[in-house]
Amino acid sequence: MKNIEIVSGDITKLDVDIIVNAANESLLGGAGVDGAIHQAAGPELLEECKSIGGCPTGEVRLTEAYNIEIGGIIHAVGPKWGGGQNGESELLESCYFGALELALENGFKSIAFPNISTGVYGYPKIEAAITATSAVKSFDDLSKFEKVIFCCFDEENFKIYQSIL
Ligand code: ADP
Repeated sequence: MKNIEIVSGDITKLDVDIIVNAANESLLGGAGVDGAIHQAAGPELLEECKSIGGCPTGEVRLTEAYNIEIGGIIHAVGPKWGGGQNGESELLESCYFGALELALENGFKSIAFPNISTGVYGYPKIEAAITATSAVKSFDDLSKFEKVIFCCFDEENFKIYQSIL
């Protein structure tokens, strides 16, 4: 599909309307992409996240992006991998659908996703990429986006996404 792209690199540096963060339920920051986004956005992001008071797994929340010069950040809480029989794929899919819906509701036309759950949360990368790409491709209003980017930070994910898409 022509509005889906794969990009390798740091998600905080992309020229898009909105980026997605792979957050945890506390929304209080963490390692990996979460740490990079908080670092780039600055301390006001943490203040706003504190005021939200957490987010359940599989759901998304919108904040401002502060020092990252884009329209906002969607914090998505991906599932921790627990073997695959605990609803992991539905929860992961729900992060992608939820972020796409929330972006459109707020008028954003370009969005970048990290490879949610494939770092500290241990989701197998191939399975996560299949779920992520199927969710995005099957999203009803996909054509309303100018651009949907899968931002791959590690080489392994980049190769997996290239082979799937
Ligand atoms: P999770 O807890 O959801 O697994 P992580 O941040 O540990 O979240 O990892 C999710 C993915 O984000 C990993 O594939 C990791 O390579 C990637 N990542 C780490 N830093 C960045 C960054 N600055 N930009 C984009 N992706 C990143």
